[in-house]
Amino acid sequence: MQRVYNFSAGPSMLPLEVLEQAQKEFICYGSCGMSVMEMSHRSKAFGAIIDKAQADLRELMHIPDHYKVLFLQGGGSTQFAMVPMNLMNKNNKADYVVTGQWAKKAAEEAQRYGDVRIVASSADTTFDRIPEVNATDFDPAADYAYITINNTIYGTRWTELPDTGNVPLVGDMSSSILSEEIDITKFGLLFAGAQKNLGPAGVTVVIIREDLMGNAMEFTPTMLKYDVHAKNNSLYNTPPTYGIYFMGRVFEWVKKQGGVAAMQKKNEEKAAILYDFLDTSSLFRGTVVKKDRSLMNAPFILPTDELNAAFIKEAEEAGFVNLKGHRTVGGMRASMYNAMPKEGIEKLVQFMEKFERAHQ
Ligand SMILES: *Cc1c(COP(=O)(O)O)cnc(C)c1O
Repeated sequence: MQRVYNFSAGPSMLPLEVLEQAQKEFICYGSCGMSVMEMSHRSKAFGAIIDKAQADLRELMHIPDHYKVLFLQGGGSTQFAMVPMNLMNKNNKADYVVTGQWAKKAAEEAQRYGDVRIVASSADTTFDRIPEVNATDFDPAADYAYITINNTIYGTRWTELPDTGNVPLVGDMSSSILSEEIDITKFGLLFAGAQKNLGPAGVTVVIIREDLMGNAMEFTPTMLKYDVHAKNNSLYNTPPTYGIYFMGRVFEWVKKQGGVAAMQKKNEEKAAILYDFLDTSSLFRGTVVKKDRSLMNAPFILPTDELNAAFIKEAEEAGFVNLKGHRTVGGMRASMYNAMPKEGIEKLVQFMEKFERAHQ
């Protein structure tokens, strides 16, 4: 069977080269005589895998030495609780900017542990933009300020980070990690579930400034303390070993593509092909304010629900799958993570042009 163009928002498309490499190494990794899945997480071979993965991510994202890199479990959603449990430790309050469902969920979870203030929200315009925020909007006494860097469902992203002064900025970059360059030093903590841009679901990357660790709330479970994982080099317990191995192969692949800057350039080109078409089409329309458009997730609509349904069905038959928009938004959404080749977007746009001609 032929591989399709998979526009899924997550879990999503992975680089074919990496899948093929993993297939070759599936039964016997190197000269180990066993699969990575069958290896002790305390073995020398796995030690080399996890260390290399961390070193490559540090190199790719230019992560300074005073930040720890952790490979955890529990997905992005567990971070919604870990962040407040570990960081809401001085004044027991935090500022959140609500730019979509994931930010909303994060804020709701944090409310269980302390005072959460919604600094700004774009809920009133169905999250079609990043709301305006000024430095003075943030509480200097907040323990941290929280943003979702790329909004997977609504298709927006922060192109300019908010100025939060001395308040550590926490960023959820589950759906944009390694897709564009980012200045780590602007953040106290960044996290990302793997299943959008890094590898199979099951491993979650956390990048945390060292000084923010070690003051978790009293009741915080051991497994949810950042410092415990940092002290143990993400080997406090059995980590998601296969996920870490696979993600490491994706890091090597990104390096081979020229690193994050090259990835960003390619992603900008890909996104421009789709957005330029949406801007000139007489039938299709993008749903997001232009300046805040995501490079990774592009939602768009047709004039009627019938046309949306017809498009999704015909696209699928033509090999463009998972274009249905999120259940809360409707319409379509094309997710074009790092692994989506430019050719996939070009062919999708050709297909959209054809659909448009047929429905004029
Ligand atoms: C997918 C996603 C999440 C949730 O991730 P899980 O790993 O399913 O918990 C959180 N934030 C963003 C921005 C996402 O795209």
